[in-house]
Amino acid sequence: MIEVQNVSKRYQLDSNNHVWGLRDVSCHIAEGSWTSVVGPSGSGKSTLLALMAALDRPSSGQILVEGKDICTASDVRQAIYRKNRIGIVFQEYQLWDSISAWENISLPLVVTSMNLKQRKQKAMSLLEKVGLTERANHLPRQLSGGERQRVSLARALVHDPEILFADEPTSNIDKEAADKVTGLFVEMNKRGNTIVVISHDPELSSFADQILTLDKGQLVR
Ligand code: ADP
Repeated sequence: MIEVQNVSKRYQLDSNNHVWGLRDVSCHIAEGSWTSVVGPSGSGKSTLLALMAALDRPSSGQILVEGKDICTASDVRQAIYRKNRIGIVFQEYQLWDSISAWENISLPLVVTSMNLKQRKQKAMSLLEKVGLTERANHLPRQLSGGERQRVSLARALVHDPEILFADEPTSNIDKEAADKVTGLFVEMNKRGNTIVVISHDPELSSFADQILTLDKGQLVR
């Protein structure tokens, strides 16, 4: 499904200095598979996810999604790919401050043919799955960090993405909430969704078909 071919990402700090986020990384994400990405802080995990999610472009190499290079695709094509096919849960939650948890979750559905009642139903069913039914009407600032993280996960899942990219989705939350998140990922994966997750949680990684280990921007074999 996703073919990463010789991808490098160089961050230019100023005219004299640069750092490598990734160096010549190649890997394959099979359709319906579960991939865990691990490695020390600064090893390139977030960079790899951001490139596969078309949130950034590599300095060289290509990333084929069903044969088409998303790196050279236009901004519009990249946005369509993100909107239609993938869900992204990053560590900054990026929720809208002035609207409630359920409204945040249902926001991506405003552009669909679903009416308000259907949108609310969908948001509520996801809130139940992440264990936050009783927080539906809370504003983000009235939620804990872990609760905001789960709201952002629910929002990433609201359009049933084929591919889910998640960065440490079970960090900052207690065991009970982490079990719910893990259960949700397992359920999605059983339904055939592809999962790519950065995680050091051994429980979550135990479901992985493939573990990609990064070190200093390179894949460790
Ligand atoms: P990880 O997710 O494994 O902690 P990252 O992908 O965030 O690692 O970062 C890989 C390397 O790229 C690090 O050295 C980091 O400092 C650098 N890096 C990441 N993003 C940027 C950026 N926007 N500008 C400059 N350097 C960056």
